[in-house]
Amino acid sequence: MIIQLKNNVTPERVNELSKSLQAIVVKQDGATLLVTPSATKTIDPSYETNVEKFFVMESDIQLAHPSFMPGKRTVQWGKNSIGGTHNNSVVIAGPCSVESREQITQSAELMKSLGISTLRAGCYKPRTSPYTFQGLGLEGLKLLAEVRDKYDLNVITEVKDSSHIEEVIEYTNIIQVGAKAMYDHSILKRCGTAGKPVLLKRGFGTTLQEFVQAAEFILSGGNDQVILCERGIRTFETKTRFTLDLCGAAYLKHHTNLPVILDPSHAIGYAYGVPDLSRACIAMGIEGVLIEVHPTPKTAKSDASQQLNHQEFTDLFTSLNGVAKAVGRNLI
Ligand code: PEP
Ligand code: MN
Repeated sequence: MIIQLKNNVTPERVNELSKSLQAIVVKQDGATLLVTPSATKTIDPSYETNVEKFFVMESDIQLAHPSFMPGKRTVQWGKNSIGGTHNNSVVIAGPCSVESREQITQSAELMKSLGISTLRAGCYKPRTSPYTFQGLGLEGLKLLAEVRDKYDLNVITEVKDSSHIEEVIEYTNIIQVGAKAMYDHSILKRCGTAGKPVLLKRGFGTTLQEFVQAAEFILSGGNDQVILCERGIRTFETKTRFTLDLCGAAYLKHHTNLPVILDPSHAIGYAYGVPDLSRACIAMGIEGVLIEVHPTPKTAKSDASQQLNHQEFTDLFTSLNGVAKAVGRNLI
């Protein structure tokens, strides 16, 4: 249950109520909310004088549920916004990893030349093998910040574990929580107080309920700037790397108030399919796509098979504009 308290309730009383209701206190747009377990369905008559309104919730998808807050939450995205009443769809593009100053500069130049505002690249890579490239770490973050400032871009980079979360928060504009880090509660809780937008990726073995509940950890920590990213789930299929769950995206669009972004690159795992999938994603009328692009994909130190080269990406971006227009979206 979400209980919105009256404005005149004293901090002592808020404390008392939150303890007795086993509730998390969340401040939102000047209002004080108590979020209790969703199993709580009624309000004790002795609390009623303190309550402005309350929402009985079906499950622990609470702050993200449209019955609490209809429509989409607005997320500040650099100088732009996504969600809310905006029709913006953000194109997040760039290499899987920051590899060198030269490589990330070429990526930044491509985004700038196409009028794309957001550059992505990982510095702490959650690799499946300890023997492969693990990312440049802090050096990579510094290179990313350098090109961000030089080309006036937003950058998004991922946090892999809590050992470097403060560095990521300091250097990035938007924090990415990767599919493998999605269950890390210390990351989720720190994101709740980070004061920056968080792109939360769905784990490949995660149900939609679990995914949105992970977002609730960030929202209930006081950060309402959360975006959900579907990036493919594991199925019986082996011909593609994962299966992009467009049904799941439709569910998230309808049953949550959070902006939704789709990642076709990690889903299919092969560059040949990324253009068609990207167009399908934009046609869904969601808040954005994440596409991996590399100056020389064959030599990429991670995810080489799925990254588009600059010409392929330029051609794709041109066609995406037409699809976006057809469904009333504006690419940023
Ligand atoms: C990435 O975006 O480079 C990445 C590692 O994605 P995921 O967490 O979805 O595997
Ligand atoms: Mn990648």
